Amino acid sequence: MKDTGMIRSLDSLGRIVVPVEIRMTRNIDIGDPIEFFILDENIIVLRKYTSTECTFCRSLDHVTYYKDQFICNSCLKELVDPDRVPEEPQRRQEPAEETEPGSTVRRAKTEEMRSRLEQAIEDHPYANQKELAAILGISQARVSQLKRKIVTASKS
Ligand SMILES: [Zn+2]
Repeated sequence: MKDTGMIRSLDSLGRIVVPVEIRMTRNIDIGDPIEFFILDENIIVLRKYTSTECTFCRSLDHVTYYKDQFICNSCLKELVDPDRVPEEPQRRQEPAEETEPGSTVRRAKTEEMRSRLEQAIEDHPYANQKELAAILGISQARVSQLKRKIVTASKS
């Protein structure tokens, strides 16, 4: 047994602080359950408590320890059984193409600006891109981008 050299006093409620150095090196976080063992008359051992129940079904029967986890026999069988029905992967709430939040809003804005541009072109048929940009209060690059969209839209 290694002596850490650390001494802590019990407080008025009988509590003791586990030194941060020990918590960090032993991977003990605030709220983790701690087990007590009595080694002999004078020695009490503390250990981070790991439940021996099955990680998956909480069963305590025929539990095997594997890579920091406890797995019961029946769950283990299910895991290795190639015929078992695979669980439906959790469906994402958003459709796949909507990867960025706010892209719907952006798309709606583009739609709005496109129709405003179409209107501006109708009202000022001889206006160039620079003038259209000034009318709509957007950049020339945006005008040409939107124009491309109009062309694409009228083709289809
Ligand atoms: Zn199980």
